[in-house]
Amino acid sequence: MSEGFQGLILLGAPGSGKGTQAKRLQKELNIPHISTGDILRAEVAKGSPLGLKVKEIMQSGALVNDQLIGEVVDQRFNEPDVRKGFILDGYPRTVAQAVMLEELFAKKNLPKPVVIYFEMDHRVLVDRLTGRLSCPQCGAVFHRSLNPPKKENICDHCGHMGLIQRKDDSEETISKRLDIFENETSILLDFYSQKGNLKRLNGLQSVDKLYEEILKALEG
Ligand code: AMP
Repeated sequence: MSEGFQGLILLGAPGSGKGTQAKRLQKELNIPHISTGDILRAEVAKGSPLGLKVKEIMQSGALVNDQLIGEVVDQRFNEPDVRKGFILDGYPRTVAQAVMLEELFAKKNLPKPVVIYFEMDHRVLVDRLTGRLSCPQCGAVFHRSLNPPKKENICDHCGHMGLIQRKDDSEETISKRLDIFENETSILLDFYSQKGNLKRLNGLQSVDKLYEEILKALEG
């Protein structure tokens, strides 16, 4: 299973561009983009038992517990499209999740993943997140002023009419999500630095430049 396998973990605060980059990378690398946030939002939209369990937690900006999210990821990893690799976006978010992931890599005998951190000043993120719009049909992400859709309220990619603001992109929830990132997720940077597989890239450069740097980082 591990020959030619490419595991990529994107780390960065909410709004740092992980989803945008992951969507481009999945086409280039031909491996799936796994966003735990997207998986949970789909469950909430379906009204499944898992969705009902996590709905309020997500709306408040808090993290879903490690055990539950670990099960979601485990299940996703059992699908056949992950055989050649995957791009993880939004997972792991705590050291406990990173340890679970490491155990999973060891169990499946997979090579070490490349971990990329999108480094940026968090003050910029509040603007980015309050202006963010997404397509409820295909998940494409836009920004009211920085990256508007070509036609107002219509998705450039799938033509769906009616772009939406995520419920957790309101101002008070955003500051909570950024605090959680500072307190929980940033510890992961130490975890992966110590393991020697962390690459820090400037998350404030243009989407195209950052994309090029990610591809270079993957070459080693
Ligand atoms: P995201 O789209 O990655 O910003 O995730 C949206 C929300 O889903 C988060 O604010 C959490 O409530 C939940 N979530 C997504 N990934 C995780 C994770 N790895 N651990 C815990 N909660 C998560």
